[in-house]
Amino acid sequence: MKITLAHGSGGTSTGELIEQVFAKAYANPVLSRMEDSAVIPGASRIALTTDSFVVSPAFFPGGDLGRLAICGTVNDLLVSGAEPKYLTAGFILETGADTEDLEKIARSMAETAEEAGVMIVAGDTKVVEGKGEIFVNTAGVGFVAEGVDWRGPNCRPGDVIIVSGNLGDHHAAILSRRMGIENDILSDCAPLTDMVGALHRGGVAVRAARDVTRGGLATVLNELAAASGTRFLLEETLLPAAPAVRGLCGLLGLDPLYMGNEGKLAVVVAPEDAEKTVELLRASRYGENACRIGVVEAAEEPGVLLITELGGQRVIGPLFGEGLPRIC
Ligand code: MG
Repeated sequence: MKITLAHGSGGTSTGELIEQVFAKAYANPVLSRMEDSAVIPGASRIALTTDSFVVSPAFFPGGDLGRLAICGTVNDLLVSGAEPKYLTAGFILETGADTEDLEKIARSMAETAEEAGVMIVAGDTKVVEGKGEIFVNTAGVGFVAEGVDWRGPNCRPGDVIIVSGNLGDHHAAILSRRMGIENDILSDCAPLTDMVGALHRGGVAVRAARDVTRGGLATVLNELAAASGTRFLLEETLLPAAPAVRGLCGLLGLDPLYMGNEGKLAVVVAPEDAEKTVELLRASRYGENACRIGVVEAAEEPGVLLITELGGQRVIGPLFGEGLPRIC
C-alpha cells in the first residue's frame, strides 16, 4: 500500500495507519491509553532532547532509519548521564511512501527501543505531498540520578580521553552506499546503554561524555575543550579505525576524525579511573575496541592538538561546513 494524502487527514485512514503500524509496533500501557499527551511518573532531575532523522537511503548496511531514530536520541540522553526512559515518535510521510517500508522502520524502532530499555509513549503522523520519503523525529526523556554531573566544563588537566571503538563506521557505510562503492563496511548504529550503564555501576569518575556523531570525534572533542578551557592532546597512533574505513578515507581524501558514528562514546575520565574505564567498556556490548586516545592539558588557547604518526603536531579544528548531508 502507498501513503496518500488521506493518511494524513486525521480521519479513518489516519486511524487505520496508526492502528496498523504504530500502535501495533509500540504497544505499551502508556501509549495504549491514546490520550492527547502521555502522563508518566517523574523524577527530580530530567534530561530532555529531540532529533530529526532524514538519512538517505533509509535502509543501509548495519541499520535503518528506525534504529537510527532511537539510537540518536537515546545516546544523547545517555551521554548526559541520564537513564533514558520515554520517547516520542513523529513521522512525516511523503505521498507515495511504501507502507511496507514504514512497517519495517516501525518494527526496527520497536526492537531498538526494547534493546535500549525505553518506551515509546506518544507519537504523531503527518503526510505531505512528495516523492515517497519517510522522515522521523524522536524526542526523549531521561532521569538523572542525584550526584551525576556529566558536562563539558568538568574536564580538567590530567584527565584521560577514551573512545569506545572504531571511528567513522556509520558515515563510511552511508557514503559507500551512496557512491555505489562495494565493501563490507557496516554502520555502527547502536544504543550506548550497556556501556554507559557499566560506567555508572563501576562508579567511574566521568567528567563529560559525548556520542560521536555528525562532525566526528574532532568536532565533539573541540566542544569539550572549548567548554572546559583546556587542550585535548590526541595521539594519532592510538586512534582506532577499521582497515576498510581507513582504506575508503584514503581513497576519497577523508579523515576518520571527521567521520560520523552512531554508536560510539567519547568519554573523559579522572586519570585514576582510565584503566578501569577501558576495561568496563571493552566488556560491554559494542565496546570491544575501546581504548585511550589522549589526555587533557592546561592551555592558554583551548582546542584539540594531534601528535601525528611522525611525531609532528597538527591542530584539529571542528568540522567546517557540511561533510555529507543526510547521514542521520
Ligand atoms: Mg550527541
